[in-house]
This record gives sequence, C-alpha cells and structure tokens, in this order.
Amino acid sequence: MTQVTVVGLGPMGSTMAETFLAAGHEVAVWNRTMSKAEPLVAKGARRAASAADGELLVVSQIGYQAMYDSLGDARLDGTVVVNLSSGTPEELRAAARWVEGRGGVLVTAGIMVPPPGIGRPGAYAFYSGPKDVLDRHAATLKALGDIAYVGADQGLAMTYYQAQLLVFWSSLTSYMHAMALLSRSGVAPKEFLPYAKELFTLLGGDGPMGFAGILAAEVEAGHHPGELNSLHMQAVGMGHAVHALADAGLETTVPGALRALFERADAEGRGHEGLGTVIQSIMNP
Ligand code: NDP
Repeated sequence: MTQVTVVGLGPMGSTMAETFLAAGHEVAVWNRTMSKAEPLVAKGARRAASAADGELLVVSQIGYQAMYDSLGDARLDGTVVVNLSSGTPEELRAAARWVEGRGGVLVTAGIMVPPPGIGRPGAYAFYSGPKDVLDRHAATLKALGDIAYVGADQGLAMTYYQAQLLVFWSSLTSYMHAMALLSRSGVAPKEFLPYAKELFTLLGGDGPMGFAGILAAEVEAGHHPGELNSLHMQAVGMGHAVHALADAGLETTVPGALRALFERADAEGRGHEGLGTVIQSIMNP
C-alpha cells in the first residue's frame, strides 16, 4: 500500500481521504483550515506538516489558485501532484509548468462523481499528463474510481470534464424548466418522470432518437440533413416553448438563449438543415 497526501478537505477531498484509508493506504491530510482534518485523523490519517509533505499529493480544492496558495514556494523535487480541482484548461497547462519549475510533475484530473459516488461502481475521472507517471500511481488512484486517460496535454482532463458538465448542466436546467411549465398546469414532477427518464435514455441510445450518436456522426461528416425535421421548424417550435413559459409566468433565460441560437442559424440561411447545423453557429460566434 502506498503513502498519499490529500490536500484540500472539502466534501470531495475528505471523502477521497476516507476512501484511500478504507483501501488500506497510508494517508496524510492537509487543509487550509486544519480543523477539518480532525474526523480523518480519528480514522487513522496523519496530519501533514505542510501541503507539500509527501511524494504523492492528491489535491481537491475550489480551484488552482488554492494549490498555489497552499504550496507557496515549497520545492516539489520528485513529487507527483495529482490535482482533481476545477479550472480552465489553460490554467491547468500553466499549473503543469509551475509544478515542473519546482521539480515536480503534475497530473490533472476531473472527477465525474459527487462525494457519495467516490470509489463506488461507475465512478471515474478523466486524467491527463505524462502517462508513465499516471501508470505508476494508477493502483492507488483507482481507489477513487476508474481512470479515463485522455492524453498528455494537461489541459485535456478539464476539457473532457467541462464537456460532460455542459451536457449535465444544460440538460438538467432544461428539465427544471420542463417541470416548472408542467407544474403551472397542475402536473406533478413524478407524473412526468417516466417520460423524462425515457428521453434521457433514448438520447444516448442507438435508435432513431439516439441524438448523441447521430450528432457526433453529423459533426464528423460536416453534414446535417434536415429533410424530415428542419432547423427552421424547430426554431419556430422553440419560440412556442419560450412563449408558453412566459405565458405561465416563468423565467426564460436559457430557453430564450436557445431560441436566439436557433434563429441565428435560420437567419444565416441554414433553416433547411437539421438541428446539428447549430454547431456551425457555436463554432463561429
Ligand atoms: P470546494 O470546491 O468548496 O473546495 C473546498 C476546498 O478548497 C477546501 O479544502 C478549502 O479550504 C479549499 N480552498 C479554497 N480556497 C483556498 C485557498 N485560497 N487556499 C487553500 N485552500 C483553499 O469543495 P468540494 O470538495 O465540493 O470540491 C473540490 C473540487 O472538486 C472543486 O474543484 C469542485 O469543482 C470539484 N468537484 C466537486 C464535486 C462535488 O460534487 N462537490 C463533484 C466533482 C468535482 P478551507 O476548508 O480552508 O476553506
């Protein structure tokens, strides 16, 4: 079993430390507010002398500035820093250079589960950075969940992570608009739930509603057939949905933005193409 120092003891870092302990690793913990270490120390973790106390640092903080603040001017010779915090891909690349300048190596990661999911079946994180370094610590990191290695460029882990979150946030926010609209007509969320579940499942499937796959193929081919369901038709329908929300006294920021995006693609002369043509507007703001 290996020695691992967990830096950052918010809900994620604390659960990571507990998970490493449960897997039998020797765990040291460090947090800006050190009192948060108490429950972990009670479970067998050691209080790290500093954030840089260890050869494998697993960092989970609000963002990358917190890592700079925590490590300060410490040398990191021979240290592997695995940072699972949120940031922009450019911030991650700059952080890789910063760690390297202090003699260490940075592996970046974006973990795709909330605290209760850490270490459970289905948990995974995107990792990027030097593969040989990740491979050396894979057995330890696997305690947190599966490893999805996405490339040597340290910015990639967060790019994949944000790609997933864009789908997550926007689809769930639209789902909330849907429930709000239905509630104005007296429909309870649980009455709509079976239909929502079916749609979420179908979108990721292989059938005629399998739009995750359909759009990926269309984007690769650069061709968005719209003979059967044109973007123009969908822009008009989206306008009706936004009006329905407004008539029901609901807020319309996100659906209104979608309508604007659809209408722009239509106004640019691509209304006869399919929904996938919207990516052209996104790629050319
Ligand atoms: P937070 O994002 O709220 O981060 C809290 C941690 O950041 C604490 O340890 C806090 O220290 C530390 N921190 C903040 N600012 C500084 C600073 N300037 N210097 C040193 N430490 C600092 O908590 P979470 O645990 O929820 O999230 C951790 C990371 O995991 C985030 O990047 C988040 O995006 C990501 N994530 C979170 C998920 C979730 O469901 N919670 C799911 C997937 C990823 P202190 O205790 O002293 O305030």
